[in-house]
Amino acid sequence: MQDRELYRQILGIEKPWFVERVELKLDEGEVHVYLEHGEVASWACPDCGSQCKLYDHQPERQWRHLDTCQYETILHAKPPRSECGEHGVKVIQLPWAEPSSRFTALFERLAIDWLKAASQKAVGEHLGLSWDEIHGIMERAVERGLNRREAEPIRRLGVDEKAFRKGHKYFTLVNDLDRPRVLYVAEDRKKSSLDGFWETLTEAQKEGIEAVAMDMWDPYIASVREHLADGETKIVFDKFHVAKHLGDAVDKVRRKEHRILKAAGDDSLTGTRYDWLRNPAAMEPEDRKAFNKLRNSGLKTARAWALKETAMALFGYLRWTPSFGQKIGSP
Ligand SMILES: [Zn+2]
Repeated sequence: MQDRELYRQILGIEKPWFVERVELKLDEGEVHVYLEHGEVASWACPDCGSQCKLYDHQPERQWRHLDTCQYETILHAKPPRSECGEHGVKVIQLPWAEPSSRFTALFERLAIDWLKAASQKAVGEHLGLSWDEIHGIMERAVERGLNRREAEPIRRLGVDEKAFRKGHKYFTLVNDLDRPRVLYVAEDRKKSSLDGFWETLTEAQKEGIEAVAMDMWDPYIASVREHLADGETKIVFDKFHVAKHLGDAVDKVRRKEHRILKAAGDDSLTGTRYDWLRNPAAMEPEDRKAFNKLRNSGLKTARAWALKETAMALFGYLRWTPSFGQKIGSP
């Protein structure tokens, strides 16, 4: 089931944890996501961080997570317990929730966002939370706010869009690239989807951001420019996405030129589509010989290809500026 990978990404589940299965309960309006972990040599003691062996697992617990597409989303897992020489048997710190909470960290953040705009009663009714549950969420938020003042800087961010339900729905995910973890999730891929993230950071954290990696997606670019000082100098386009845009451009040139040549009875470009997309270093010697002839020809496609190769070689030096961004961003 493809949704397993989606839920893994939305929940920010990292190895050794994985999504074992996803159960959709349509009548109840619920999605149940079952997490399990692979074999690991050791688990960190929650008190001292030293690597300990697995002691056992607690019985299965549940955490309410952000709704996904209007479905109440519930995680299930059996928390492992580590056995530390000094601190004894302890439940490990799970990556998706604080120890005392029945809600995931992201769910609590959603509730807090709503509490800023609406009464506790309204939020409680809408999210199906009791008075006590709302208070627990608020208490933990205050504590987090205090911790955040001493929060470590986040230097490098990654912003990704994830398609869901075959592209009918999108999510925006913000990752910390240095200590891989999901920092933020929002529905859709609009400017406003990313705007909410910046409010979760302190001024010092915003100033400390050195780079934001992302696809060339105008709403994200606009959000970074609005919220970070010198935002446009901090945007880095993912190499994979740049390669894809350049590859598409070469292919466009090839198609056009092929049509013109073919009309004149010349099939120099017939059957060469994939040659232009491959790395010559990975070709068989025979193929490479044939391709070298093509790339050294006076064809426009060969020139477009050479431009792409040069741009990719320069990638290590690429720095986004508005004019450059527009040039490579427009097809
Ligand atoms: Zn310990």
